[in-house]
Amino acid sequence: CACYRSRDTSDMAPLVVFEGIDGSGKSTQIQILHDTLVQKGYNPLLTREPGGTPLGETVAHWLKTYPNRSPLAELFLFAAARAEHVAQVIQPALDQGRIVLCDRFTASTLAHQGYGRGLDLEMIAQVNRHAAQGLQPSLTIFLDVPVATADSRKDTDSLDVFEREGSEFRQKARQGYSAMAADDHGGWLVIDGSLSKESIARIVWERVQSLLAGAS
Ligand code: ADP
Repeated sequence: CACYRSRDTSDMAPLVVFEGIDGSGKSTQIQILHDTLVQKGYNPLLTREPGGTPLGETVAHWLKTYPNRSPLAELFLFAAARAEHVAQVIQPALDQGRIVLCDRFTASTLAHQGYGRGLDLEMIAQVNRHAAQGLQPSLTIFLDVPVATADSRKDTDSLDVFEREGSEFRQKARQGYSAMAADDHGGWLVIDGSLSKESIARIVWERVQSLLAGAS
């Protein structure tokens, strides 16, 4: 199986994270990448935040259903879900040499609770480091779409707390993602999320192939 190929012991299996505002196409692309990897003989783990564990799914439900909570409470709920997710799911899978694909990770917290809600970015970065036990993505793929495009893709009948936020919140989060990507060219791939699903999937696959070949 390609997932257990012998590798340099200093070389951990990659963690590939998809980021972007709601409706940017993350779950669509992560599923396509997962299926492509399976076809190529890998054994990827597909997971998401907040969630990925029973505790995390419960926290995700609270986050989607309790409006008007304080930004700090929101931050620590995400952090609790992430701590559990990294410890119980992500790190064990990486230790087994599996490629981990995660729909949202630490950058989501900086974009939404930091740039979106105005919490201090350095404080969030510290909370993120603790919750993720220092684990950082090998690659963060940012699907960048205008807020209006993302909103037009949404099913407006069943909006959760975040999806009911005004477009200004999503606009700030989008700008936050762009700022983070500009600060870290090497670790981020920015893709125009208004392209077709197929074009985006091709760009993603090209970059993930180089990552797997060790030429990222
Ligand atoms: P996210 O996970 O970022 O919220 P989704 O992958 O669920 O986004 O996509 C939201 C909606 O937009 C879905 O109905 C999906 O089929 C559609 N969609 C995803 N990618 C594209 C694209 N590149 N072009 C047009 N529609 C898209």
